[in-house]
Amino acid sequence: MARYTDAVCKLCRREGQKLFLKGTRCYTDKCGVTRRSYAPGQHGQGRKKTSEYGLQLRAKQMTKRYYGVLESQFRSYYDLATHREGKTGDELLSILESRLDNVVYRLGWASSRAEARQLVVHGHFNVNGKRVDIPSYLTKPGEVISIRDKSRQSEKIKAVIEENASRPVVKWLDVNRDTLEGKIIASPTREDIDLAVDETLIVELYSK
Ligand code: SF4
Repeated sequence: MARYTDAVCKLCRREGQKLFLKGTRCYTDKCGVTRRSYAPGQHGQGRKKTSEYGLQLRAKQMTKRYYGVLESQFRSYYDLATHREGKTGDELLSILESRLDNVVYRLGWASSRAEARQLVVHGHFNVNGKRVDIPSYLTKPGEVISIRDKSRQSEKIKAVIEENASRPVVKWLDVNRDTLEGKIIASPTREDIDLAVDETLIVELYSK
């Protein structure tokens, strides 16, 4: 799968907010947004694009980057969201938030979504007792995500869990730190998602 591999802090600076792409570094003074709160590049400190299209584009790009999803998959999530009953923008975010890699990150079993994606691909997790190694797998309420028995002995996994143990867990997930199991209690709603984006701008962009 193709992935964005350039310096990720530039992505946050381009969007003007922290997207938490680099794990623990994001919570320190070394954060690129904290150190240089302007867009990267020669014209980064110059005039900002404020056209309607520009705002819509930035909202889409920011959301894609936050979840580490490329355009084609993002668009397919949008199409899926249009077929759901709720507001399309809310449903889009709920779908993105339900991805297995995001759930692993939210459970505190990875320092970033990129790391979560890698751990999922390497087969460290079960969903309802069965190995799932697809980061885009969409979790559902009632499902239980767990770290596989063999992976629990991994020094890397132990270190990651330890490193992220103090990170608060979102209310639509329930994590048991002793059994290393996480349950999806409910579908994530817009209020549960801490991304500062106006999702209606994405809907406007795709509705043209
Ligand atoms: Fe973004 Fe994290 Fe880099 Fe800060 S440290 S700019 S939040 S990726």
